[in-house]
Amino acid sequence: MKLAILSRAPRAYSTQRLRQAATERGHDVKVLDTLRFAIDLSDHEPDLQFRGRRLSLYDAVVPRIGNSITYYGTAVVRQFEQMDVYTPNTASGISNSRDKLRAMQILSRHGIPMPPTTFVRDRADVIPAIERVGGAPVVIKLLEGTQGIGVILAPQIKVAEAIIETLQSTRQNVLIQRFVKESKGRDIRALVVGDRVVAAMRRTARGDEFRSNVHRGGSVERVELDADFERIAVRAAQIMGLKVAGVDLLEGDEGPLVMEVNSSPGLEGIETATKLDVAGAIVDYIDNQVAFPQIDVRER
Ligand code: ADP
Repeated sequence: MKLAILSRAPRAYSTQRLRQAATERGHDVKVLDTLRFAIDLSDHEPDLQFRGRRLSLYDAVVPRIGNSITYYGTAVVRQFEQMDVYTPNTASGISNSRDKLRAMQILSRHGIPMPPTTFVRDRADVIPAIERVGGAPVVIKLLEGTQGIGVILAPQIKVAEAIIETLQSTRQNVLIQRFVKESKGRDIRALVVGDRVVAAMRRTARGDEFRSNVHRGGSVERVELDADFERIAVRAAQIMGLKVAGVDLLEGDEGPLVMEVNSSPGLEGIETATKLDVAGAIVDYIDNQVAFPQIDVRER
């Protein structure tokens, strides 16, 4: 097949591995800078220009859309969809996953287990909200945070209230979430491709840190997931409209709790920890979808 990787970072590990996996399998693959597309809407035929020239025909694209270019990146992906080019992650799937509030609303509507979470705007509603999720200690998260920045564990209600007020005074949106203490500074990253988990790792926080992000010094190990973790991870990705996703879960007393579904999961950490060929699994899945397209009646 002819495959385009949409990426602004041709030298990044994930981009290189996807390119390599596609080449090894005999596919014709190009890395195209997402911001060099022009979306032509003047004709009634949807069209894309790349670096000023009409784009040749592709069978499929793999979008690797960074957080900072979500708006333009999803517009480019949507244009490919309108041109009937296969993409494992649709523009609406990517947009859903980028907005933490919207993502959690969608997942909870479909019965995906998650830590009790609430959003409030008015000061008067903060303390009742903390009490509803189980009281202190409580987790406070910035909606726009990544890599553990903007994730705070507040030991007391008074402290939580002060933190939330401070953040809201700088016009930041925050969510209040039950602290899942039994997960003990650990979380699970499940890499979903199609209807299965192709690789999974456990991240463990360093020392008394509760955030297990590798950027915060966390360590990683390969894990074999229980069937209920696999099922919930795959369901969460499917509900978001993503065929390639990194699903982050906490290990709660009653089973898996979904924290987040990531539409451009990094491959370096998980391939290194598991020694599995995740890039190859993604390319094989796409190749199969191009060869034997599944018509999803809900999307038509
Ligand atoms: P980011 O998207 O910035 O990585 P996360 O929401 O994934 O932020 O949180 C970062 C880390 O903090 C998680 O990997 C997990 O280890 C820990 N954590 C987050 N939420 C909770 C929670 N409700 N209970 C316990 N630990 C949590």
